[in-house]
Amino acid sequence: MVGQNFIHPRTVKPRILKRPKHRISRRDIDPDALKIIYRLNSQGFVAYLTGGAVQNLMQGITPKDFDLVTDARPGQIKKRFRNAFIIGRRFRLAHIHFQGGKYIEVATFRRELDAEEEADPDPSTSYKRTYGTPREDAFRRDITSNALFYDVDTESVIDYVGGLKDLAARKIRIIGDPGKRYTEDPVRILRVIRHSVRLDFEIGKKTERAIYSHRQLLAECPGARLFEELNKDLTLKTPLVFEAYQKYEVLKYILGKAGERYDKDPDLFARLKTLLEIREGAESGGFQFSREELFALISWPWVESRIPDEKEDAPKNLNETITQAMAGSWLTKGLRADSIQILVLTHHLIQALRTGRMRWSLQHRSHYEQASRLCFLIEKGRPPHGKDPFASLFHSLYPSSEKKRRRRRRRRPRNRSQDHQGA
Ligand code: ATP
Ligand code: MG
Repeated sequence: MVGQNFIHPRTVKPRILKRPKHRISRRDIDPDALKIIYRLNSQGFVAYLTGGAVQNLMQGITPKDFDLVTDARPGQIKKRFRNAFIIGRRFRLAHIHFQGGKYIEVATFRRELDAEEEADPDPSTSYKRTYGTPREDAFRRDITSNALFYDVDTESVIDYVGGLKDLAARKIRIIGDPGKRYTEDPVRILRVIRHSVRLDFEIGKKTERAIYSHRQLLAECPGARLFEELNKDLTLKTPLVFEAYQKYEVLKYILGKAGERYDKDPDLFARLKTLLEIREGAESGGFQFSREELFALISWPWVESRIPDEKEDAPKNLNETITQAMAGSWLTKGLRADSIQILVLTHHLIQALRTGRMRWSLQHRSHYEQASRLCFLIEKGRPPHGKDPFASLFHSLYPSSEKKRRRRRRRRPRNRSQDHQGA
């Protein structure tokens, strides 16, 4: 159920905006999404474009994905589309797959359950009761400007929740009472902040005040959901989204121990923001970072601040420090282990740049390539290039080391074959 002083969904008439009063054209809509809409319409179902896609198209921005919503149930969608897969346990949705790994999400109109229904343990009935009307579906969404529907058939935008007004005023507002809606699902706090940064919209006063009074609820959110949100943050405008998270002191909920420090320490956060900006610049130039490289980069400023500037490495300490940095973040086990390895190696490489002594056997460790790139980015403040950017940097700083290495390399095969003969 939505907020207290809230108009009941059933009594609200939608505001309908027709062409030419809006700027959405069919030409701007993904042809596969259009095909799905046409097929559902031809079989008697209602199907709208919704969510971020309508919001973006209204702003003249090209959407990154096209979410659809329909009155067809997931089973009915599956029957009509060979390439449809049903996902989700609590809310079942269809993903309709296309070539190249692309898919379009098709949800069924649903409504917010009240507390009693929510508590009903019988899954067979709660599925059925979750479905709702387009009106109820608009009200169960979180952000007003994100709850618009676009009807391709009549070329109109349908607004039940005041989203058009907020779009015009460039405001991000929660539908209903923000405190209640954050309590129902604290992840909405992150969504509000992210959407305001991405669209460069202001957050409405009540919506913002409730962030401060409810943000601690994020601590109780399932890790998988926070991780899902974090992944969205890493796709677009990451430095600015993180800056806003720091302002609201919510980095600790998504980045654990390291996030706690970034929230509190502006200098440390400034270092992180710089690294994220370098990464953003590199990616816009076509450079791709792996996930584990990215998480290592995010943890680096904290790790670096925790490692005393020692001449000698202290591997036990180092591993412990890095593992601590990652504690409380929601990375999957494998991703965390890989990021830790990259960070350990990066530390060794940076030490090598300081001391001029390098253990070249490190080149054979897994994740060396990633650490080599990260080390270059940290040291030079620009995107790495070449196969082993660390080695090029090291040799440019210590030219004599390369000659010595070449000599050693030439000798090594002879020694090895002798070893073999001796064995
Ligand atoms: P993006 O541009 O990142 O895809 P989006 O707003 O479309 O942003 P999605 O995660 O794709 O976000 O969600 C699709 C739609 O589902 C949203 O537009 C919103 O209306 C609704 N939605 C998503 N998460 C929530 C939530 N936690 N509570 C209520 N509604 C939500
Ligand atoms: Mg979306």
